[in-house]
Amino acid sequence: MEQDILKLIHLGGEHTVTGSCHLLQANGLNIMVDCGLAQGNDVILPMKAWPVEPVEIDYLFLTHAHIDHIGRVPELIAKGFKGEIITSYPTRAILAPMLEDAMGFTDMTSGAAAGMSEVIEELSWGFEYNEIFDLKKGITFKLGRAGHILGSCWIQFDISEHKTVVFSGDLGSKDTPVLCDPDVPEGCDLLILESTYGDRNHEGRADRVKRLGEVLVRAVADGGKVFIPAFSLGRTQELIYELDRIRQGSGVKVPVFIDSPLGLEITKIYSGLSEYWDKEAKELKAKGDHPIDFEGLYAVEHFRDHRKILEMSGPAIILAGSGMCTGGRIIEHLKAGIEDSRNDIFFVGYQAKGTAGRDILKYSKRPGGYVMLEGEKFDIKAKVHRLGGYSAHADQEGLIEWVKAMGEKPGRIKLVHGTKRAQEVLEDLRL
Ligand SMILES: [Zn+2]
Repeated sequence: MEQDILKLIHLGGEHTVTGSCHLLQANGLNIMVDCGLAQGNDVILPMKAWPVEPVEIDYLFLTHAHIDHIGRVPELIAKGFKGEIITSYPTRAILAPMLEDAMGFTDMTSGAAAGMSEVIEELSWGFEYNEIFDLKKGITFKLGRAGHILGSCWIQFDISEHKTVVFSGDLGSKDTPVLCDPDVPEGCDLLILESTYGDRNHEGRADRVKRLGEVLVRAVADGGKVFIPAFSLGRTQELIYELDRIRQGSGVKVPVFIDSPLGLEITKIYSGLSEYWDKEAKELKAKGDHPIDFEGLYAVEHFRDHRKILEMSGPAIILAGSGMCTGGRIIEHLKAGIEDSRNDIFFVGYQAKGTAGRDILKYSKRPGGYVMLEGEKFDIKAKVHRLGGYSAHADQEGLIEWVKAMGEKPGRIKLVHGTKRAQEVLEDLRL
């Protein structure tokens, strides 16, 4: 009987860290949770192979605005989805710029991206955290803070009588700058839990500002540039926050440039949503110290200014996308600066196999190491650093702690969003 009331189908991201897409069939409704793009070597089921047509999906819930969770929304709409898109209020605000960027809105030959933004605007609804809302057919839902990026949420569905299903989405670590710590559900019958770091723990986060500060001071002492490849959503805002703290603590007033149009746009949205910040960020703002803005922080909006920054001499700190050096303005900075030993490159995020970022990390350790950037060979003479402790995901301990903090143990846990290995290790812990 139960099977008829409730069915869970994974359309992507069951044993991979990208391509998240799950379908919950309950009380005759098709409820989709996330519709993300697969990245790197991950494979995803084409929409034509889905057990339901996009037009038959009643609701699309989004846990947050990373591309591996929202990237296929335009395709879903193009293929006939007409339901409602439900998410938190901040995620709704971030959705359009992220998708426009992913669709290549600079490509003026197609108005597709602009048209798509309008449709998304019409179909989507932003909801507050921790309130219960009625969906339809006796189903209610609640969004809880996930602490992963601004707007990220876990989603709880209460179905008819006593069936409760929780999708964790991507869970963040505690004490992420600007973000509130994750909320904890009271309990559930079925938990769909992410497991990205199910098999390991992060380096200590507490003293990372101190460590970043120490290396930065050394790095800029010789007048070079520091390049930080960073993701536009989440990591860029975290770094701005921490660089502000470092500048205040160390007195080193090196200019910081944000050379990423998307990163700037997202930072503006973060700045405008102060009611969703954590206590520390709110207190700083109340004292007149904006947590993600400071004197000496420069926005490089226009391409002509980007050219100037390329030619400018150091010391300077430059944040630019993409985070794995697979494209974007960081490539030109690297081409101009990677062969200068006064410069430094700081990696603060995961570098996937086959990316220039991974190659730089790997070959910088070898004598005569070089990297290919847009088909050209560059010797790696800049100093390369990798800073641990930066992850938007909870580590193994964080995941365990989150589950254990629930008032009642979940009836069943289904692991998703992780490699087979990470899932096996976490599975063995019998949460
Ligand atoms: Zn994410």
